[in-house]
Amino acid sequence: MQPWLSAAWREIERGGAHGRPQAFCVVHPPGVAVVDLREHLTSALLCQAADAPCGLCSSCHQLRLGTHPDLLMLLPEGAAGMIPVDAVRNAIQTAYTTAALGGKRVIQARPAEALNQSSSNALLKIVEEPPAGTFFIFETALPGKMLPTLVSRLRMIRVAPPEIETMTQFAKASGVSEDDVQLGDVLLAAPLAGLDAPERLVLAKSVLKALHQAKSGDDPQRIATQFQKKDATLVLTTFSRVLMAVIRARTDGQSVLGFQGPYPDTHWLMQVLDRVNESRHQAQSNIAVNLPLTMSVLLAAWSFIWTRVQS
Ligand SMILES: [Zn+2]
Repeated sequence: MQPWLSAAWREIERGGAHGRPQAFCVVHPPGVAVVDLREHLTSALLCQAADAPCGLCSSCHQLRLGTHPDLLMLLPEGAAGMIPVDAVRNAIQTAYTTAALGGKRVIQARPAEALNQSSSNALLKIVEEPPAGTFFIFETALPGKMLPTLVSRLRMIRVAPPEIETMTQFAKASGVSEDDVQLGDVLLAAPLAGLDAPERLVLAKSVLKALHQAKSGDDPQRIATQFQKKDATLVLTTFSRVLMAVIRARTDGQSVLGFQGPYPDTHWLMQVLDRVNESRHQAQSNIAVNLPLTMSVLLAAWSFIWTRVQS
């Protein structure tokens, strides 16, 4: 387990004076993955051995295979990206039956801020008084977006934001380069993306590369074809983060992500940023975005403001 998660784990192990809690909420800094903590807690709760998690019993074995019948997951569904109340009701119904392996049961809800009002309301009673052997693990980076009455019934486990040096050390030990830690941090606000979500980092890096190519005068339309069928929100968010990094670097007179001054006017950069954010909001609201077309227009605007500097 990563060192910054171990502290949270020790807090769980210490437990409370009021008996063992049955509903946990892991609160983590944005971009810090807590998968190892969540999996460890889940196996500890479900393990059939006294020294849990043993890693050897049939429960531990099935968890590893991803086939554990008593692990229920509430995940966002559909275009709205919310956890639907029907799924919550089904899970609650199951929670009142005997567990398939005859032992305990774990219900995960992540990200917990994806529980809408009715889904949250449906959970209030069972979280307050869970059936024997049923445990809840909520997970969120945005506890403020959860229903307060739900939050008040959960044992909050807070993962402290790790120092970037600690993360860099850990990433390097795990085979991620220092460059990728920095790129993950700037492009995705996730320094460990190279470890936790390598395919997202690859796509983010391709956006950065496209921005460099467009700046050097390559045809925006040709560059943009590579974004066919790619995750529009991720591509546009990365674009927007690069712009913000450039705007900051311009103010500080520094170079960033391979870009250096003289930079375009902040005014021009802000205009492109506005347009990128507009498309990003469309993508986030599930309005169909023709990404290659959108990107070719935005890359053209980006390329244009650099030509104004150079001339
Ligand atoms: Zn076990």
